[in-house]
Amino acid sequence: MINRKIYTRRLSAVRRLMKRGRVGAMLLTSPHNVRYCSGFTGEDSFLLVGRRWVRLLTDGRFAEQARIECPHVKAIVRAGRMVDTVRDALAGRKVRFLGIEGDSMTVALRARLEKALGGVRIKPLSGEVESLRQVKDAGELAAIRRAVRTAEKAFRALVAGGARNFIGRSERRIAAELEYQMRLAGASAASFETIVAAGAHSALPHYRPGGTKIRRGDAVLIDFGAVVDGYCSDLTRVVFVGTIPPKFARIYEIVRLGQAAGIKAVRPGATCGSVDAAARAVISDAGYGEAFAHGLGHGLGLEVHEGPSLGRAVKQRLRAGMVVTVEPGIYLPGVGGVRIEDDVAVTGDGAEKLSTLSRRIEDMVLR
Ligand code: ZN
Ligand code: ZN
Repeated sequence: MINRKIYTRRLSAVRRLMKRGRVGAMLLTSPHNVRYCSGFTGEDSFLLVGRRWVRLLTDGRFAEQARIECPHVKAIVRAGRMVDTVRDALAGRKVRFLGIEGDSMTVALRARLEKALGGVRIKPLSGEVESLRQVKDAGELAAIRRAVRTAEKAFRALVAGGARNFIGRSERRIAAELEYQMRLAGASAASFETIVAAGAHSALPHYRPGGTKIRRGDAVLIDFGAVVDGYCSDLTRVVFVGTIPPKFARIYEIVRLGQAAGIKAVRPGATCGSVDAAARAVISDAGYGEAFAHGLGHGLGLEVHEGPSLGRAVKQRLRAGMVVTVEPGIYLPGVGGVRIEDDVAVTGDGAEKLSTLSRRIEDMVLR
């Protein structure tokens, strides 16, 4: 059943932003923002939000889908160009300024729109709907929980076969296996290209899996996530094939303690920077400050990377309903790296870990 109230509430929030931005209407072009404000999940469609009206601008391929997914929004099924449809939808509505999404609209589309609109002036706004999306409602939290559970189920299936299922197989093959398991468990897609980094490759935080064959004694960093009902999860574990390489035991423990300190610092009112600092202090005190060269985490929702950013010195404060990753790492070039990543929801008085995979090093050894 479609919960109209959710979209009424979200549109009201958009209208408050419009008022602040002094625009009479707002054109949402980011598919995630169109979905967030209307429930429509198709492509190539814009949402035009006025002070007291809203229109979904779509085409014939999506007319039926729009009717099913968002019967509460009037759809305009366009035959001609999108920019002319925007012009026609605004005709007679006395809109002087039209807000656009400056973060996602292309320069070319803006030029075409400007030309088509004639008298209506365009005003780029930035990150408006994205800021609303940072705080999740109960339905969104439930979807993220399902995305986490689905990714975890797939990971458990992947490691259930033990070292035998890793040795002699390429990083790419392991990534494909994990993505297949996620699909079997109900994911519509992977939230991003799965990272499987064996041995020294794990020192590259954004490594792309290749043809390297995994050997006994390798540490393998696996960063993965599932999309379920449009919402993403994002997790990282390092598994050890047969044995733990000597250099890894110590850095693994430091990262684990750093992550625990970070998760403990997550609560409403805390600044993002203070959460980063809590984890970073553990890693710096152990002498690896330089080897942790990225922020502690990021928001998670319809997109796998959204606000807030748990980066160094970020002053934004956490609010109940936000969902963030906590993912410290230590990367030693030529040796390898460890990152442990979990998804955490900010609650009314602290934090709730959404992910349940073990973080204990003993549990990460594949026999
Ligand atoms: Zn990740
Ligand atoms: Zn992440």
